[in-house]
Amino acid sequence: MPADILIVDDNPNNLFALENLLAAPDLNIITAGSGNEALAKTLSHEFAIALLDVQMPEMDGFETAELMRGNSRTRHIPIIFVTANRSEREYVFRGYDSGAVDYLAKPLDVNILKSKVNVFLELHRQRRALEEKTRELDAKISEMERLQNLLQERNEQLRVLSRTDRLTGIFNRLSFDETLDYEWRRCDRGGKPLTLIMADIDHFKAYNDRLGHIAGDHCLKQVAWALSAALMRHVDTIARYGGEEFAAILPETDESGAVAVVTRMRNAVKALNIAHPASPTELHVTISLGVASMLPDPNLSPLRLIEMADDAMYRAKALGRDRHALYSQLG
Ligand code: GH3
Ligand code: MG
Ligand code: MG
Repeated sequence: MPADILIVDDNPNNLFALENLLAAPDLNIITAGSGNEALAKTLSHEFAIALLDVQMPEMDGFETAELMRGNSRTRHIPIIFVTANRSEREYVFRGYDSGAVDYLAKPLDVNILKSKVNVFLELHRQRRALEEKTRELDAKISEMERLQNLLQERNEQLRVLSRTDRLTGIFNRLSFDETLDYEWRRCDRGGKPLTLIMADIDHFKAYNDRLGHIAGDHCLKQVAWALSAALMRHVDTIARYGGEEFAAILPETDESGAVAVVTRMRNAVKALNIAHPASPTELHVTISLGVASMLPDPNLSPLRLIEMADDAMYRAKALGRDRHALYSQLG
């Protein structure tokens, strides 16, 4: 892209001469015959450099430069004053202090003119290239940030999905195993009891056989929801252990504390009032529950707690279903 350069002189012959001297394929030369015209041209161009004749009627070169300095759009344009008068140098030197300002004495020496203009043009090109690079870099950085956020989001979604049971939306077996291990160690460190509840839908095979698997799936979802709602503390978790079996982990809870929870669970499922026309136990869907509590022992595996809760649950089945049994009372 060619660079725009502004030349300002009240004498058309000077303008013409300057234009011819500077003409180059990579330069777009804009001329102005007065300070006012020069200021007007800055509205429609981004000048790489401005050459200002100092002596002009109405508004001289210094005044024009002063006005350009006062405007944020034009403040950064490097200025070369073209002056015939030595006494003006002091003023010109004041200009030096405020930034990229230079001066040329009339009569103009072509080589000096070109080399000064080239220095400023090169600066302008470098600044443009830098701005372009900065823009590219900014775009790359924000794209990388966007991808990173997306990745984090996806990872989080995957993490949640891998721990969620597809059908019921509650935790799955993987999540249950991890939580049990974690709470087993945590309660061991704190010397606190850990309780496990196993809940199993009664006569669920008969339910499926009579009403079909779609109805069976729907029933499972409702039961899962009711069991979740029956847990009151945020550290308590419920997972689908498998098929129509659910497992609840109650950290820092002993057997007597768990009795209130199993009672709530059983009543919550009863309150769903899902008709079970094939159940010999009740007219609606019921569950049987087994409760086991222990102080975690680092020499034992938490699998022991699962066995105990399972044993209690089978006792509840054997005793007629729609009830809970405590491992400690198995005898
Ligand atoms: P019990 O009262 O002794 O627990 O008898 P049950 O019929 O509930 O137990 P059983 O283990 O004999 O049968 C469990 C049934 O659960 C078998 C299977 O058809 C059903 N089942 C397991 N998973 C699913 C599921 O994802 N969807 C549906 N619809 N049924 C399931
Ligand atoms: Mg069952
Ligand atoms: Mg079962």
